[in-house]
Amino acid sequence: MPDPEILIIGAGPAGMTAGIYASRAGHSTLILEKEITGGQMTKTATVENYPGFAQPVNAFDLVQQMEAQARRFGCQFQNGEATGLVKKPEGIEVQTTTGTYQPQALIICTGTQPRALGLKNEPELTGRGISYCAICDGPLYRDREVAVIGGGDSALEEAEFLTRFCSRVHLIHRRDQFRATQIVQARVRANPKITLHLSHIVASINGSQHLESLELKDLKTGKLTVLPVAGLFIYAGLVPNTRWCSGVIQLDESGFIITDENLSTSLPGVFAAGDVRKKTVRQIATAVGDGALAGMNAHDFCARHKN
Ligand code: NAP
Repeated sequence: MPDPEILIIGAGPAGMTAGIYASRAGHSTLILEKEITGGQMTKTATVENYPGFAQPVNAFDLVQQMEAQARRFGCQFQNGEATGLVKKPEGIEVQTTTGTYQPQALIICTGTQPRALGLKNEPELTGRGISYCAICDGPLYRDREVAVIGGGDSALEEAEFLTRFCSRVHLIHRRDQFRATQIVQARVRANPKITLHLSHIVASINGSQHLESLELKDLKTGKLTVLPVAGLFIYAGLVPNTRWCSGVIQLDESGFIITDENLSTSLPGVFAAGDVRKKTVRQIATAVGDGALAGMNAHDFCARHKN
């Protein structure tokens, strides 16, 4: 395949929107995605705060519509993962698992991955009771008791989702206040199937072949208790997928990409959009806004490059 004029890494809402804008502006555009299209949207069942849908929209349907819209303008999709970014005298080179590309402009939309707690047994029991995706694994725990860790939107929304299947959901949070949106907090507090364990942390994860129980520590009293659960869903925040481009473009201390108001990174011709960039609000709506801005500014960059 010849080099696309605009290469986009990551097919979440930011990447697909950038693809819509770049291909609609007439550029040959390729989106490279290492998993399936949709990014974080594939990890949730319904979306209720994306404008244009008075009723909650099925996340899978939303992903399919975004992909179809990008394809309609000629945007291409390919499976593959970016492994390196090189600054060359003549421009940029992107190394990937499917080959090397020298696009005129690059838009990085690689998003984030869930942060692990770093507890002993966590890697061994992942897929054996420990999960980072309620939509993927929740139905496995029908009529069982499970725990969710975290106090953000993801933890609370997914705790609520799990009550569709599970007999009880224990929500464990290290502080006595949640950071999730108020409306979600109110629903969780009113849900009779959710038990809150505030100011608690998981001190240890127990089980050999499969998760059997958690040891919880009350941070106010120091008291330890054992909570028998079949599943543990971890929502302890996000780690940006930027290892492959670190050292070439400027990142903040947590690894998020620093951009200017046009979503340009420190390297000319390289833009970043969506959850992967340093910002305060991470929503589908803001990812889409980022994608539009990055797509249009990549177009401007290519137009200047031609003249
Ligand atoms: P987040 O907002 O960063 O929340 C992470 C939570 O994990 C925090 O409550 C944090 O506790 C806790 N935590 C972090 N490290 C921990 C550890 N080692 N042990 C125990 N707990 C730990 O992450 P998120 O919920 O995944 O959300 C990420 C972004 O996506 C946010 O901007 C969120 O608003 C957005 N989002 C939006 C929606 C929506 O609008 N529908 C849905 C999902 C996510 P502290 O609070 O004490 O720091």
